[in-house]
Amino acid sequence: MQTAEGIVGEFFALKESVEADILAMQCGDFYEFFGPDAELVERELDLNVSQKSSGGEKYPMAGVPLTELTPYLQALVDRGYRVAVADQYETEDGHAREITRVVTPGTLIDTPDASARYLMALASPAENVIGIAAAELSTGRFLIARTTGEKALERALSTCHRYDPVEILLGPTLREKDRLCRHVTEQIDARLTELDADAFAPGRAAHTVAEQFGRETIESLGLDEEPRAEVAAAGAVLTYARETGSGVLAAMARLTRIGDAEEVALDLTTQRNLELTVPMTEGGTALFDVIDRTVTTPGRRTLSEWLQRPRRDRELLVERRDGVEAFVAAPLAREGLRDELSDVGDLARLANRAVRGSADPRALRSIGETLYRLPAIEEVIANDPELADSPLGNVLDELDRDILVQVGETLDGAIREDPPRTIQEGDIFQRGYDPELDKLIDEHEAALEWIQRLAAREQERHGITHLQVDRNRTDGYYIQVGNSETDAVPQSYREIKSLKSSKRYTTDELEARERDILQLETARAEREHELFVNLRDRIGERAPTLQAAGRALGKLDTLAALATHAAAAGWSRPELAEPGAGIDIEDGRHPVVEATTEFVPNSVRLTPEEAFLLVTGPNMSGKSTYLRQTALITLLAHVGSFVPAASARIGLVDGIYTRVGALDELAHGRSTFMVEMQELSNILHSATDESLVILDEVGRGTATFDGMSIAWAATEYLHNGIGAYALFATHYHELTELADRLPRVRNVHVAVDEAGGDVTFLRRVKPGPANRSYGIHVARLAGVPEPVTDRADEVLAQLRADNPVEARGGDDTEPVQAVFDVAAGEFRPDATADGGEQQGVPPGTESVLAELRELEVEAERPIDLVARIAEWQDRLEE
Ligand code: ADP
Ligand code: MG
Repeated sequence: MQTAEGIVGEFFALKESVEADILAMQCGDFYEFFGPDAELVERELDLNVSQKSSGGEKYPMAGVPLTELTPYLQALVDRGYRVAVADQYETEDGHAREITRVVTPGTLIDTPDASARYLMALASPAENVIGIAAAELSTGRFLIARTTGEKALERALSTCHRYDPVEILLGPTLREKDRLCRHVTEQIDARLTELDADAFAPGRAAHTVAEQFGRETIESLGLDEEPRAEVAAAGAVLTYARETGSGVLAAMARLTRIGDAEEVALDLTTQRNLELTVPMTEGGTALFDVIDRTVTTPGRRTLSEWLQRPRRDRELLVERRDGVEAFVAAPLAREGLRDELSDVGDLARLANRAVRGSADPRALRSIGETLYRLPAIEEVIANDPELADSPLGNVLDELDRDILVQVGETLDGAIREDPPRTIQEGDIFQRGYDPELDKLIDEHEAALEWIQRLAAREQERHGITHLQVDRNRTDGYYIQVGNSETDAVPQSYREIKSLKSSKRYTTDELEARERDILQLETARAEREHELFVNLRDRIGERAPTLQAAGRALGKLDTLAALATHAAAAGWSRPELAEPGAGIDIEDGRHPVVEATTEFVPNSVRLTPEEAFLLVTGPNMSGKSTYLRQTALITLLAHVGSFVPAASARIGLVDGIYTRVGALDELAHGRSTFMVEMQELSNILHSATDESLVILDEVGRGTATFDGMSIAWAATEYLHNGIGAYALFATHYHELTELADRLPRVRNVHVAVDEAGGDVTFLRRVKPGPANRSYGIHVARLAGVPEPVTDRADEVLAQLRADNPVEARGGDDTEPVQAVFDVAAGEFRPDATADGGEQQGVPPGTESVLAELRELEVEAERPIDLVARIAEWQDRLEE
C-alpha cells in the first residue's frame, strides 16, 4: 500500500507531466482530485472536499466513483476545461498509474446527449485558401471542405457555424488573427486549442491522413493538389485525436468531402433568429421541438443536423422528400417501422466504443439486438409497395449485408439478457456460449451451494440454533455461533475471532471449499474477461460497417418522423425548382405558431420579376411571423421535408439570411445597433441573386432618420446590386414609395379591420402598402386616455401637412408655438411665434436680421454699408 504522501506526490507529478487544467487520477474504485484541482471541482461540480494529510501537510481531496466519471467529465469540458485522466493498472509489485487520455470538448466521447460534438480544424497554408476538417469522434464522422478567394475566411466561418463545433484547432497563420480567435470563442462558443504547428505542416499532415484513410482516398478526392489545405486541417484533427488518447482513430474510416456548393449558407444569426434547434427565449419553442417525432438517438441527431445544414443538392433532396412522401402514403407500415426502430441502439456510437475498448456488456448486447431487428425493418419496407418502390427501398441497400449478418451471428447467444454495466461484475455471458466458462460456472455454483447449505447442516448436526455462515473481507468464510451456544461447538471448529456476543470459527473442510471458490472465482472472471475482450475486438473490427448501418437507420427514423409530423399537421409536398427560380407558397403557415394557435394562412410569391416584398402593417399585425414562415418553409424544403402550406414551389437557394431589428432583439437582451449593422453588412456581402434575405425592421436601433436612410439604401442595394429574393418588414411607411421607383419591389401589407376606431388584427396579407401608421390606434387599444389619443391625432395631421405644431402651455395664456421641422426631424423651439400660418424662416435669415437690427447706420461709411448689404444678399441667396 502506498503512503498518503506517495499518492498526493504522484498526483502532482502526473499533473506536471501533462498539459491539462485538471487531472482525475484513479485510486482503486475512485477517481481522485487533489490540491487546487480538488478546489476547482468543488467549485464547478459541487463535489465534497475532504482533507488528505501528507508529509505533514493537508491537501484538499475530492473524488467520484469509477463508474460515474463520465457526467463529471462532460460537465467540466462543457465549461471549457481540459481534463487529463490517469488510470491505474496492475504490475508485478502492486500497481502503477499513467495518463491514458486527455478529454476536451471535442474529444469527449462518452456522452449521453444526442447532439453531435464536432472537433474542427482550419488551416490556411496559402493566401486565400482555407482547409476545413470536422470530426465527430463519438460516431467516427470525418468531413473536409475548402474555401477559396477573398472571402475564404468568411465562408469557412459560415461552415463552422453550421457544424457548431465545440472545439477548434487553428493553423499557425490563422491563430495570429485576433478577431478570428475572438469570433471562435465568443460567437461560435468553441474552445480554441493550440496545437503544435507541425501537425498542420502539409507534408506531415498528408502522411497522417494517408495512414488513416489510405493513399487512394487522398488521390480520389484530389487532396494532393497544392497547397493541400484540407490535408493540413485533417492531419491536425487526426494528430489531436491521437495525442489526446481518445482511441477512436480505428473507427474513422470514411472521409467525406462537403462542397460549399451543396449546402445552403445559414449563419449563426439566422439559425438563432429562426429558432431552428434552440428557442430565443426561455420557455420558447424551437422548430426542432415541434417537428421531432424521431424514436431513436441517431434519428434525433440526424434531424437536428439536417435542420442546421440544409442542402441544395437537388437529387439528394428529391430522394429524401420522396421518402417522406412514401411514408406519408403508408401510415400503417410507417408505424410498424417506427415500432421496430424504437428499440434499436445508437450503432455508430456503440461501434465506436467497441473500437476504443470502452464498450461494456450492455453496449455489445445492444449492438446484437439492433442487428436482429434489421431483417424485420427491411421486411416492413419490402412488404409495402408504397415504401418498396420509393427511395426508401434503397436506404438499406448500401449496407454490407454479409458483414452485418456475420456480426449478428458473432453476438448471437453471447451476452445474456440484462447484463451488468461493467466487466468486473461478471455474469456476462449466456449459458452455452463457451463450454469452458460453463464448466467453471457449474463448479463455482456447486461450491457456493455447498456453503449455502452448510449452516443448516451444522445446526442440525450439532444442535446449535444460533449458527450462521457468512463471508467478509478480513475473515473470509466463517461459521458464527452465539455466545450462549459456543459450548456446543465440536472439536473440529477452530476459533478465528471473538466478538461481543458471538464467536467465529472455521474448519478444514470450509477452508478447502473457500480455496476452491476463490480459485474458481478468479478463473471464471479471467475467462469472462478474455472472452469479452475478444468478442469486443471482433465487433470493433467491423465498426465502419456498423456505423454505416447506424447512419441508415438514423435516416429511416428521421424520414419517418418527418412524415409523421407532416401527416399530423397537414403539410404538403414541396416542388423543388431550379436555383434562383423564386418562391411560390400557397397558403403558407408558420410551423411553430400553427402548433398552438388558430393560424391564418398566407401566400407569398417571389419571382425574378417581383423579387422584393416590402411588408407593412401595424405593430403586432403579423409581419415578423409572415417573414419567418417564408424562411422556414424554404428551409424545410431544403431539408427534404414536407412544408406547412397548401402547396409550395421552391427554387433552390444558396443561402438564407435573416436580420431581425434591434428592438425585437433588445427584448431578448442581446443586441446593439452595432451588432445589427454588422449583421446587415454580412448579408450585403454574402447574399447572391439565388439567396433568400429576410430583413425585419432593419435600422430601428437608431434615430428615425438615419435608420430609415440605411433601410432605404440597403433595399436599393439588394435590389440593384445583388438581386436577391427578399422580404423586408418595416414600420417606415416612407419606404413603401420605393415600390413605385424600383421595378422588382412590391408592397404588401398585413390587413387590419378598423371598424369603430378599434383595430382588429386579421392576419391577412394583402397587396399594396398599409395605408398609414397605426401607433395611435394601438395606444387607444392599450387604454391611453382619450384626450391624449385625440390630441395625438391632431398633432399627426399637422405634421403630415408639414404644418407647425403648437406646444400647449400649462395655463390658458397664449399657446406657445413650436415648429416641427419635418426635413430635419426635430423641433425648432427658437422659431418666431406670432400665431397661425407662418412657415419657418429659411436658415441663415435670422443672423442677417439680427445684424441688421444692431446696425448703427450713422456710424458707418456709405461704402461700407453698400458692402454689408451685398454680403447679406449673398447670404440670403444661399
Ligand atoms: P409584427 O411583426 O407585425 O409586430 P408578429 O409577427 O410578431 O407581428 O405577430 C404578432 C402576434 O400575432 C404573434 O403572437 C403571432 O403569434 C400572431 N400571429 C401572427 N401571424 C399570425 C397568423 N397568420 N395567424 C395567427 N396568428 C398570427
Ligand atoms: Mg415584428
